[in-house]
Amino acid sequence: MAEVEKAEELYEGKAKKVFTTSDPELLIVSYKDDATAGDGEKKGTIVGKGAINNRMTNYLMQVLEQAGIPTDYVEELNDRETVVKKVTIFPLEVIVRNISAGHFASNFGVEEGIVFDQPTFEYSLKNDDLHDPLINDSHIVALKLAKQEDLDRIRELTLKVNDILKEFFAKLNVTLVDFKLEFGRTSDGTIILADEISPDTARFWDATTGEKLDKDRFRRDMGGVEDAYNEMMHRVFGDNA
Ligand code: 5GP
Repeated sequence: MAEVEKAEELYEGKAKKVFTTSDPELLIVSYKDDATAGDGEKKGTIVGKGAINNRMTNYLMQVLEQAGIPTDYVEELNDRETVVKKVTIFPLEVIVRNISAGHFASNFGVEEGIVFDQPTFEYSLKNDDLHDPLINDSHIVALKLAKQEDLDRIRELTLKVNDILKEFFAKLNVTLVDFKLEFGRTSDGTIILADEISPDTARFWDATTGEKLDKDRFRRDMGGVEDAYNEMMHRVFGDNA
């Protein structure tokens, strides 16, 4: 493809910067090592995280594309930077859980580690001031954040992503506990998967030992944060990590 030039910084988020480019349909994302948790109250750095999340996201997006999921991935530029399709993001976190953990356990007063008969599906409103509250389809339609047909498509794609990723990670002896996706709409109206899939946005447990290999090690001050990210990188890329 023709070379895409970075133009202006559009947005700086907690874990990424986003730049406009010479092509109005494309953006460049740049992954940072910065880490936050607890609505941004806990801040830190996870050395190497930006490069790991960039490469892992891009790899997984390509796996998903090959399995028929439309994604925003275009081209990896370097360790930290990737060209993606420009979308208007739905301000929703789309969360699937296969096993109880995190807010499922705390909200509903159950222990972590309960294996569900079928995955759960939920939305949170992306709004730090409101602490990303749970929100349902009828609320989303009432707030005009998406139409019911959009939500039906997002749910269909998300459950398919879960099936593909569960199987992908199982082969690496990793249990996919839960994850968060974000979707957006391109200028021609197509709904596609956007944002990232990484140890920042998913819970990964070693399938044999149950060891946590994700951002919970940072959120919960467990230590071994960089080691966990590096381990996930090795599971996915082997000697090419
Ligand atoms: P929980 O609702 O239990 O906190 O998170 C469920 C899953 O979604 C976890 O895999 C978590 O990493 C991801 N997730 C939920 N909210 C956020 C968020 O605001 N930022 C990130 N990076 N991941 C989130």
